[in-house]
Amino acid sequence: MLKIKNLHASVEGKEILKGINLEINAGEVHAIMGPNGSGKSTLASVIAGKEEYEQTEGEIILENEEISELEADERAHKGLFLSFQYPVEIPGVSVTNFMKTAINETRKAQGLEDMPAKDMLKKIREKSELLEIDRKFLSRSLNEGFSGGEKKRNEIFQMAMLEPKLSILDETDSGLDIDALRIVSNGVNKLKTKDNAVIVITHYQRLLDYIIPDYVHVLLNGKIVKSGGKELAHKLEEHGYDWIKEEVKVES
Ligand code: ADP
Ligand code: MG
Ligand code: MG
Repeated sequence: MLKIKNLHASVEGKEILKGINLEINAGEVHAIMGPNGSGKSTLASVIAGKEEYEQTEGEIILENEEISELEADERAHKGLFLSFQYPVEIPGVSVTNFMKTAINETRKAQGLEDMPAKDMLKKIREKSELLEIDRKFLSRSLNEGFSGGEKKRNEIFQMAMLEPKLSILDETDSGLDIDALRIVSNGVNKLKTKDNAVIVITHYQRLLDYIIPDYVHVLLNGKIVKSGGKELAHKLEEHGYDWIKEEVKVES
């Protein structure tokens, strides 16, 4: 589904990603872990095509198509979803109406007509029931006064509605109280199929008690220095990152 080859990227002229190789197949959940500042969010942003990040080398191949030259919205239309892609508050636009627009824009980009209102309502009902999202929430103004948990609920709802091929969830800093943790992990587990894939980025092992990854990768100073199964996350929880830093030093 996704193949990343020798990816280098810079922000404001400073090289942050220094040769990332990563391969993700349909049906897989990959966790990317690493200490603060190692480049996790940069990797997510570069894959998603955010403008501030300059890809200087390498390839990003989504389903056999090199997407490095595509704009962020074009990548989204091809089935790439990045959490916090729409973090803006939009007073007066409800969660539902925003979603309808996003879906129809995606369809338009794919050469399809607007989704008939009846189908849209049905889909909203199905997805909100699956994720146990109540009606009141759906009529709230987008992100206005949302708690951390509500922001997560909105993101997961967007993911459910858009049905991306590949979702990248960058679980940064604060947002992850126990409520948010449950919303994200339940959502991911319910939305996972054999046809889609998820990258979960976190430096908390705790999230991975709820979302069981197939593979764990450790990002250190802009490089993936170690990959393994879910046991690697447990080892990191127990021993931190220092032992990996030592290993890397010895090898280099
Ligand atoms: P992580 O998500 O692993 O904590 P980041 O990708 O956020 O790491 O950051 C990696 C490095 O890139 C840090 O040194 C950070 O200061 C820098 N960086 C990331 N984004 C920007 C940006 N928009 N402007 C300037 N520097 C940035
Ligand atoms: Mg950071
Ligand atoms: Mg980050």
